[in-house]
Amino acid sequence: MSDALFARIDARRDALVALTQELIRIPTLNPPGENYRAICDLLARRLEHRGFACEMIRAHGAPGDSDRFPRWNLVARRDGAAPGPCVHFNSHTDVVEVGSGWTRDPFGAEQDGDRIYGRGACDMKGGLAASIIAAETFLEEYNTYTGAIEISATADEESGGYGGVAHLAEQGYFDPARVQHVIIPEPLGKDRICLGHRGGWWAEIETRGEIAHGSMPFLGDCAVRHMGAVLETFEARLFPAMAQRRTDMPVVPDGARQSTMNINSIHGGQPEQPADYTGLPAHCVPDSCRIVIDRRFLIEEGVDGVRDEILSLLDHLKATRPGFDYAIREINRVIPSMTDRDAPVVTTVAQAIRDVMGRDAAYVASPGSYDQKHIDRIGKLRNCIAYGPGVLELAHKPDEWVGIADMLDSAKVMGRTLERLLLG
Ligand SMILES: [Zn+2]
Repeated sequence: MSDALFARIDARRDALVALTQELIRIPTLNPPGENYRAICDLLARRLEHRGFACEMIRAHGAPGDSDRFPRWNLVARRDGAAPGPCVHFNSHTDVVEVGSGWTRDPFGAEQDGDRIYGRGACDMKGGLAASIIAAETFLEEYNTYTGAIEISATADEESGGYGGVAHLAEQGYFDPARVQHVIIPEPLGKDRICLGHRGGWWAEIETRGEIAHGSMPFLGDCAVRHMGAVLETFEARLFPAMAQRRTDMPVVPDGARQSTMNINSIHGGQPEQPADYTGLPAHCVPDSCRIVIDRRFLIEEGVDGVRDEILSLLDHLKATRPGFDYAIREINRVIPSMTDRDAPVVTTVAQAIRDVMGRDAAYVASPGSYDQKHIDRIGKLRNCIAYGPGVLELAHKPDEWVGIADMLDSAKVMGRTLERLLLG
């Protein structure tokens, strides 16, 4: 190993910028899931030219998949001269909606000094581009290596990953017999290793009442008041209990090192009318009120305990509050994932960060989940991290950008990781 690889990566700065711009200029908005085939085709053309065998995999039947919005994924693999470990870089190709507040063209990929602007620049087309430049440069520098390099570009991470990594994992692409090391270049920062993420439990709770004329509410039963009692119970008993629970996971920011819950939405009574409706509401006691909760939990908690805690509070209300009744529907659940600090991919990337930046890596965990959950739960592969360039706080924001110097440093860390794992 030498610094020759680093010099080569520095020399490919323009290629890195150009690739990042090409990727940003394909608007892969999700929802609805646009242009997945176009971005996979672009990557496949490029990687086939570098000797990768490319497979296009559509997640038929996954949520959101249709002939109009097909969920296409790419898996590209290049085997070395002899069998050995496979290092897999997985990036999602989808980006979230643009939103308001932009001063740049969200799909223009404008370069300004060290920055490239655009939706998906940091989350995570910059990371995808850095991993491709790292792999290409490694292949230029070394004629032979043992093992294999894989690069996947996958759909739908922003909507749960069911049409992307989850589908590939179900097809066996993340079987530990096939892939040994996984790096997901999400924008955690060039000197931070993300070991995993908290879990999530989403549910809709409905309180029920009885419709009546609004002038005689005593003849009905107000579902919104019952929901008020639910929220009061959460304030008095659930939120203080959650605040007591701290995790040993290195979750950042610090506020997410405890259990949290967001009340995602609330609705009761008549449907809201469109803004151009000029009529007045009818006078009715609401017979239904619904909230959606987003409960994020720690690896020390179990998902069944999280659910049972909420059920027991609701059952207590049912036993003590006259007329109270409820229904609850689970929307989704995600298990927490946490890779050991001494797992081979972690120690190798940590050493590569020292090699490139001359300082120790910081270890973090993510407050929200990402595709590691599927690699862990479905693939049964526990040697997986998120590592990539970019400032996490810029993800999903207006004027999102990625720094070119950061991408170059991350590409060097990824290249050095390939050297350490594939050169024997
Ligand atoms: Zn992302």
